[in-house]
Amino acid sequence: MKDVAIVGYGPVGALLANLLGQAGLSVAVYERDTAVHPLPRAVHFDGEVMRIFQSAGLAEHIALATRPSSQGMHFVNATGQTLIVRRGIDGPGPHGWPNNWYFHQPMLEQILREGVGRYPHVEVHLGHEVSNPSELDARYVVGCDGARSLVRRAIGSQACDLGLHQPWLVVDLLCDPSSRRVKSLPDYTIQLCDPRRPMTIVNVGGARRRWEIMLMPGDDPTRVAESGKFWPLLERWLGPEDARIERSAVYTFHSIVQQGWRKGKLLLAGDACHQTPPFLGQGMCAGMRDAANLAWKLSAVLRDGAPDSLLDTYESERAPHVRTFIELAVKLGAVLQETDPDAAAARDARFAVGTERFDYPQPQLGRGCRADAPPPVGTIFPQPRLPDGRLMDEAIGQRFAIVGETELLASARADSVLLPGVGADWLASHRVRAALLRPDRYVFDVAA
Ligand SMILES: Cc1cc2nc3c(=O)[nH]c(=O)nc-3n(C[C@H](O)[C@H](O)[C@H](O)COP(=O)(O)OP(=O)(O)OC[C@H]3O[C@@H](n4cnc5c(N)ncnc54)[C@H](O)[C@@H]3O)c2cc1C
Repeated sequence: MKDVAIVGYGPVGALLANLLGQAGLSVAVYERDTAVHPLPRAVHFDGEVMRIFQSAGLAEHIALATRPSSQGMHFVNATGQTLIVRRGIDGPGPHGWPNNWYFHQPMLEQILREGVGRYPHVEVHLGHEVSNPSELDARYVVGCDGARSLVRRAIGSQACDLGLHQPWLVVDLLCDPSSRRVKSLPDYTIQLCDPRRPMTIVNVGGARRRWEIMLMPGDDPTRVAESGKFWPLLERWLGPEDARIERSAVYTFHSIVQQGWRKGKLLLAGDACHQTPPFLGQGMCAGMRDAANLAWKLSAVLRDGAPDSLLDTYESERAPHVRTFIELAVKLGAVLQETDPDAAAARDARFAVGTERFDYPQPQLGRGCRADAPPPVGTIFPQPRLPDGRLMDEAIGQRFAIVGETELLASARADSVLLPGVGADWLASHRVRAALLRPDRYVFDVAA
């Protein structure tokens, strides 16, 4: 019998397989398709996700195949007024890495799969569709099987609908780098809040650029993805002489958090248990955070003798966290997707006082391991550099760690990694003398 069976080898299943393989667990992965899905969906991940890749030993490799960005995301109206900006960050962000990365999803998934190859105790079965997850011969089964999850049906989860469902056309272009019009495109992401046709425009990296185009009443969803239909919508920026079409397809964006991420040995992660409209570029990121949360708990239970009830803290911690991101995406979606000209004018007037600026939220985990302790318990600890030049997590590995005042930790003895003097600014700003960090770098507890 395997320790863990993973159903679905998309990005979330592949990351989880890496993290469990690294923990020494025996794993079987089952994937219906025979190769990486060739069409990209996600194009962006954040600094916390890069830090998770770092913990899986894959950050350097992934950094070479992705585009870091110090730029933010600009919500701009039809006349060019900037309504809202998600700020960019120059240099390393709080997680020790640039805070925004743009990528080609099939390439990222390929690197994650190559990473799994390091672990002989992780078996991958491609071209294998699971029809009954309860029958898999494993102590736990994790459904990373996407939005139409079979494992979710077996659990009987209930969808909590946060209200946004909207079809959008996604067009990926391979642009001619010598084109004058291509050169004049901005590096930052544009959310074009034009009531006649809301759009998102992203520089994915290399020759790749993406246009996400909201479908309007009167569009024929079966024909709008045809090149003759969408090129006129792009003519303000580019024409067929400037770029080659990589693909075009219609997706319906949803905003859903499931209730019921676990039943007995069955668990869910990724799109199987939540879906967000992509306006913050956070859907896959949330799934990666699920994998990081679940991986250390599964290894604590299966390897280190922690009680099985530890796994019940997974949903109660993660669901409110991901919900914060989805609610923000829905709120931004309401700004972006406004198609009534009068309502759009009233919206623009609200921002006439000045551009609103925001950063990604860093919410507290829901009740779980932290019970009801207030922040900073249950928030992610930053990743500073150590005096020897290494990033903090390099010194910790997949373990618990204590950061604290030097004199306090000087004589301490613990099973955890001790990091005296690390994170002094953070400790001072929270008026605490030490913090116990979990293997996923969320704060387990603090000591005043
Ligand atoms: C247009 C668009 C843009 C997006 N942009 C971003 C972005 O910029 N940033 C971001 O973070 N997210 C973004 N997302 C969301 C992101 O693409 C998803 O959240 C992510 O791909 C989900 O990963 P997953 O591994 O959970 O599921 P999936 O990628 O859907 O993988 C599920 C896998 O399970 C397999 N499977 C299903 N059922 C079975 C079965 N019974 N047996 C065996 N295998 C099975 C499937 O074949 C599939 O390979 C975007 C989404 C869209 C649509």
